[in-house]
Amino acid sequence: MRQPLVAGNWKLNGSREGVKALLAEIKAGMDAVKKAEVAVCPSFVFIPQTRRALEGSAIVWGSQDVSVHESGAYTGEVAGSMLADFGCKYAIIGHSERRSYHGESDALVAEKFEAALKAGLIPIFCVGETLEEREQSITEEVIARQVDAVIERGGVAMLGKGVIAYEPVWAIGTGMTATPEQAQDVHAFIRNRIVQHSAAVADGIRILYGGSMKSGNAAELMAKPDIDGGLIGGAALKAEDFLGICIAANN
Ligand code: PEP
Repeated sequence: MRQPLVAGNWKLNGSREGVKALLAEIKAGMDAVKKAEVAVCPSFVFIPQTRRALEGSAIVWGSQDVSVHESGAYTGEVAGSMLADFGCKYAIIGHSERRSYHGESDALVAEKFEAALKAGLIPIFCVGETLEEREQSITEEVIARQVDAVIERGGVAMLGKGVIAYEPVWAIGTGMTATPEQAQDVHAFIRNRIVQHSAAVADGIRILYGGSMKSGNAAELMAKPDIDGGLIGGAALKAEDFLGICIAANN
């Protein structure tokens, strides 16, 4: 059985006061969350504060990116070892906003996947097609290319140490959620692609859905057999909305 994971991607949001209040509210609602693992991924600067607030609780935390470098003259970068030092469990890798605004290629994302693992972090590896790609009926081709880049770099065993997040770019922050059927089709495609390398990895790996998931649509998405939780953007910034999704993941 794959334990559901609900991870909040806070993106470029927050303040010390806001983070304090949000974490306190999420913590206070965790009694109702029995089954799902819950993670929050704040901006780098809020990670020490998040650690202090969450240590000893059931909630884990992670980063939104990681450097491929371990140390040295790389201004502005944050190494996996630094994140691990501050108790991060997860690192989001290859989010579509990094792929599009920062030009991250499949090869760089695969390198980041490996760097995260080396530091003891679990990559939450994002894949997904743009609207244009979906309209051109090349969704599977795009997803296959993104997944294969990690397998080519480190083999299927490396991929199996991470979590995959299927995030159709057209659904991120738009309110246009994929239907449960659309999402399930792509999740099943990903799992079947991994089966070609290892049935055990395909069976064990968690594949999250991300893209305008809310408490109102989370249950029907997560009821699908290959959807093992969610990567949540906008709805992760309000405790009530985020907890609603975490509770939906219980069923
Ligand atoms: C995301 O950016 O990872 C995401 C899923 O955003 P939203 O939930 O706001 O669509």
